Parts: sequence; structure tokens; C-alpha cells
Amino acid sequence: LGSSLRGTLDDLRGKSRLSEEDIEDIVKEIQRSLLQADVDVSLVQELSDNIETRALDEEPPAGTTPRDWVLRIVYEELVEMVGESTDLPLEEQTIMLAGLYGSGKTTTAAKMAWWFSTKGLRPAIIQTDTDRPGAYDQSKEMADRAEVDFYGDPDEDDPVTIAREGLEATKDADVRIVDTAGRDGLNQELIDQIERIEQAVNPDRNLLVLDAAMGQSAKSQAADFEASIGIDGVVITKLDGTAKGGGALAAVNETDSTIAFLGSGETVKDIERFEPSGFISRLLGMGDLKQLTERVERAMEETGEEEEDWDPEDMMEGAFTLKDMRKQMQTMNNMGPLDQVMDMIPGLGGGLMDQLPDDAMDVTQERMQDFDVIMDSMTEAEMENPRVVGQSRTERIARGSGKPEERVRELLDQHRQMEQMLKQFQGMGDGDMERMMKQ
Ligand code: GDP
Ligand code: MG
Repeated sequence: LGSSLRGTLDDLRGKSRLSEEDIEDIVKEIQRSLLQADVDVSLVQELSDNIETRALDEEPPAGTTPRDWVLRIVYEELVEMVGESTDLPLEEQTIMLAGLYGSGKTTTAAKMAWWFSTKGLRPAIIQTDTDRPGAYDQSKEMADRAEVDFYGDPDEDDPVTIAREGLEATKDADVRIVDTAGRDGLNQELIDQIERIEQAVNPDRNLLVLDAAMGQSAKSQAADFEASIGIDGVVITKLDGTAKGGGALAAVNETDSTIAFLGSGETVKDIERFEPSGFISRLLGMGDLKQLTERVERAMEETGEEEEDWDPEDMMEGAFTLKDMRKQMQTMNNMGPLDQVMDMIPGLGGGLMDQLPDDAMDVTQERMQDFDVIMDSMTEAEMENPRVVGQSRTERIARGSGKPEERVRELLDQHRQMEQMLKQFQGMGDGDMERMMKQ
């Protein structure tokens, strides 16, 4: 799906004007991807209308192609639809989690606690689920794994009492995360219980935890929780599965809130803050749209100035220097892994990527930071032509950067591998490409 959207966009390359049909084609592809990702029909319709109206009404700014401009509009409207990340100041606060049984509340409580601990705050989990046998043990075990404070009482059967005592017991913590019980469906009993806990705890924020596979039913569920306790943000869990979590957008819309966190696994570290561009890419199944649209921003900012920014398509031409690699690393910082970057280059589909050695893509954050420091210690000539770097220069660069020689060699290896890979691509004619894809 993402590839057909990319195909449609590629067809617009070089056009000096976009027709109504061109825009309809793009909108149709986006609609297909979003509906497939469980986004509510009315949200998709609203988005489509906005894109069509703007794409037809607005003129691309000077120096911007119609294709890039329409991409920009698409991106802006998608950001508008998915919203910004829920504001979570790094300060003392109490957060209550609500949601149906199995949505991932208990797991999310531990994940969020871990996340806050990485921000230098002291979190505590208060476990108020007295309905499910094993809730206490599960929660305690996860809190231990996250290495955070925990309060629960397996002998007490009133959740409100536990909540009250939990607040008292976790007074030293900065962030209290109150986990609650769920039900298979939302019934009056659950609503009553959660309202009573809410009153006792008086949280700063109520977050609704939704399974990514929730689909369309997220909407009515969200409306009910909103009516009873009020929802300030949404957490989407299980994004490591096939579901894209588009259903949660209806919940966000219904509660007039935003998305706070994304969960993508069963361990306490499988959590990330919501961030619109990554989520949009996921929804569309397409490489980072944001990066593509940044061209427009640059064109608007730097009127006529010589462009020094790195473009994935430039990699396909000419020599690949360490400077190129560095620019690419910088871009990747906002963009995700290299395989996604390659995925954005027209004609390089997923099939081709599978044939590359795994470690060609293995540039971890830590190594990238080291590489950056190492490159600071290299001369202009070395950056332009890393082949001149022999043993003695390697030693000098290692000393200058304070990094081990091994790291310097890794950098040079990495560069050589990437250079080789690109040469392969450059050497390929269209026929070769097709043959490889078919294999
Ligand atoms: P609760 O009933 O809302 O408290 O849900 P739990 O936190 O107990 O989660 C229910 C099940 O989903 C458990 O087996 C969790 O391990 C699993 N789970 C929760 N979050 C995720 C996630 O992000 N990815 C995956 N793969 N499993 C998850
Ligand atoms: Mg639970």
C-alpha cells in the first residue's frame, strides 16, 4: 500500500501542474492506507476534503515543485489529524490509567514508570485491580523489572482503599501511576468503580489505554470513559503486531485529547513517546513523509541559496564521501534506520533491501555518536577521501577524538560498505533492477 502511494507520488515527478485527477489519485491512495489501518471513515473523509481543497487552492511557493508541495499539504493535514503528543511535564504528578481488560494497562503502567525513571524522576505504581486474580503479582513483578516503587495490597478488596493508602505510601515518589481494573466490556460496575477511584486519587491526568487492534469500537469506548472520568490522553499498545492503531484516532477525536505513548512489546522498555511523523509513516506504511516534505521548508527558507542538504536521491550519483555519510547520519537522526531511507528512493523496494548484508544497516545510535566525534577529528582531505587513512592516521584520529582505534576502523568499514552498496545500485540498469526484484 505504501508503495502504491509512493508510486502515485513518483508519477507526479516533473509535472509543472497537478490536475484535479492527480490530486484525487493521491487522496485515494491515502484513503486506502488509512482505512486499512482502521482510521475512522469520517476522519478519513475530513482529511481528504482538506487535502483536496488546499491542493487545488494553494499555489506552490517559488522553487517548489507541485509534487513536493502536495506532499507538504498531505503531511500537514495528517499531522493535524493525528495531533501532537500529549503534554507531560517532567514534574510531580499523578496519572491514572483506564481501559478495557487486556488493553495493556498494567504493562503500560510499568513501561511509563520506567520511562519517567529515565527522565530522572522517581515513579511509583499503585495497583488497584482487585478483580483479576494475579493482577497484584503481575504488576509487582513488572514494577521490579522496571526498578520502580510499587504499592498494592493483595488482601484488600476495595480498590478505593488501596488507592488511598497507595497515595500515602508513595509520598516520596514524583510520579504516581495508578493502575485500574478493566472488564471485557464497559459496564456500569466498572464505570462506578473507576469514578470512585478517580475521586479518591484526584489524578492530574487520566490516560485511556487502547489496544492497537481495537479498531472502530475505540470510539464508543472512549466516549464512555470521557463521560465518566474525562480522558486527557491516549496510549496505544501492541503496535509490534500487525495493527497500525488507526482506530485510536477516533478515540482521540472523541475525547478531544492527544496521544501520549506508544507501546510496542511486552518488556518495560518497549515504550516510546508519541510523535506525529513516525506514527504517520506507520499508518501509511511509507518511509518518513516528514523528511520528504522538509525540502519544501528549505526551499521556502533559503530562497536561491546553494543547497547543501543531503537528499537520498543524491546518493545515487557520484562519489560517496565521509561527508555524505555524515549528512546521511544526521538526516537519519530524524528519520529512522537506513533501510527506511533506502525505501524512500524510488525504484528501491523492499525486495532489494533483503539482499543486503544485515550489518550494512547496523548503525546504532551509540556508534553514530562516536562516529560523529571521530569525524570531528578528521581533516577535510580525509573526509573527502577516507582511503588515505592508514594505520598512523587511524592512531592519530583515535587519540584526537578520544575514541578507540577500533571505532575509527569501524567507521571506515561502514563507509566502505555503504560506498560499495551504492556502487552496486548505481551500476544497475532498469532491467537489472527488475530482475533482482523478481528473484
Ligand atoms: P490490562 O488487562 O489492561 O492490565 O493488560 P495487561 O497489561 O495485563 O496486558 C495484557 C496482555 O497484553 C499481556 O499479555 C501483555 O504482555 C500484553 N501486552 C501489553 N502491551 C503489549 C505490547 O505493547 N505489545 C505486546 N506484544 N503485548 C503487549
Ligand atoms: Mg491489569
